[in-house]
Amino acid sequence: MSTDGAVTLAGLPASVLLPGHDVPLGRYTTVRRLLPQRPRRMIGAWCFVDAFGPDDVLNRPGMQVPPHPHTGLQTVTWLVAGEVLHRDSLGSLQTILPGQLNLMTSGHGISHSEESPAEHPPLMHGLQLWVALPEDARHQPARFEHHAELPAATAGGVTTTVVVGELGALRSPARVHTPLLGAELLLEAGARTELKLRTDFEYGLLSLDGAAEVDGAELTPGGLLYLGEERTAATVTSTGGARLFLLGGEPFEEPLVMWWNFVARSDAEIRQAREEWTAGDRFGVVRGYAGEALPAPALPTTKLKVRDRHGNTLSGG
Ligand code: MN
Repeated sequence: MSTDGAVTLAGLPASVLLPGHDVPLGRYTTVRRLLPQRPRRMIGAWCFVDAFGPDDVLNRPGMQVPPHPHTGLQTVTWLVAGEVLHRDSLGSLQTILPGQLNLMTSGHGISHSEESPAEHPPLMHGLQLWVALPEDARHQPARFEHHAELPAATAGGVTTTVVVGELGALRSPARVHTPLLGAELLLEAGARTELKLRTDFEYGLLSLDGAAEVDGAELTPGGLLYLGEERTAATVTSTGGARLFLLGGEPFEEPLVMWWNFVARSDAEIRQAREEWTAGDRFGVVRGYAGEALPAPALPTTKLKVRDRHGNTLSGG
């Protein structure tokens, strides 16, 4: 084991601890951004991962994200604590609680808001993730799914909940468009488990709570441990107990441009999406949110760069 977070064990690809960084979100929240990072931009089609909390929101507004647009992606909301009310331009009005999944598929365009209700639990803690849509799904109509029940099983002191995709015998009903996995692993103190992994996937693990060891590499909240490709298994242990989230997927080969809330394929597509949001087109209207929609920030004067999953710039963006 080296001190820089890279670990190589016989027969296993190196794992790399990506530290993440704090980002202010709205007026009341700071989040820990775990994807994209340099140089690791994606894990499978997972292209954006923010961890938030645990934040004390007693007598505070909690999450207050006004209506804003999305294109080219799915949003996944996963709570450990708290309560969030989702509204979108399809007319969806959905409260999400810990252990449930909100999955919003933007397709060509959707807008939504997320807020802690006036009466809310004292803690907010969870993940906000984006999944990049492949070419054949990104122009489709928008869709919203809420899954109150997800497949889960407990064995050897580990409770596994499959949020998207499948792991072992557990398969999530959530609809995704590329081979993808998202699963929560809740480890009791002293738990040890061997995850069976697919060699055609790449994987990463993050901790929402507590410390764990993954094939000898230490994982604590605030970092993302990238496990690479070609891995058949990972041994996860925790002395004191931990709540982890496993991300996996087939490497996503389509180069992307990400800007603000948009995932696209070119600078021109991003500029068009911004223009249409500003004009009130394409992304519909969120009804019932007490406040104004978010204006798009100014675009850079230089062309936005198209990047592949390794962060390499492509010409012709
Ligand atoms: Mn959003």
